[in-house]
Amino acid sequence: MPRYQLRADHVRPGEHEVPHWHVARVGAVFALCTRLLDPVTPVLPIEEAEYVPVERRCARCWDRAFPDEADGDKVSVMPPAWM
Ligand SMILES: [Zn+2]
Repeated sequence: MPRYQLRADHVRPGEHEVPHWHVARVGAVFALCTRLLDPVTPVLPIEEAEYVPVERRCARCWDRAFPDEADGDKVSVMPPAWM
């Protein structure tokens, strides 16, 4: 079972004005949304994900990391194997 963590990105000209949080495997160079992460970005434990404001989340990362929490029509029909 891979370990995941939250990684902030750096704001670049023309993008959003505040850092967004991505989900990545521990030690990975790319986030789940395939964005290349800076090696010195701030890190949070994955358990903090639910406290990150929606406007600060990378939607693609959250969709991949937490598919059951996606809105309405995207909720998977089958429960996870561990339920
Ligand atoms: Zn992302």
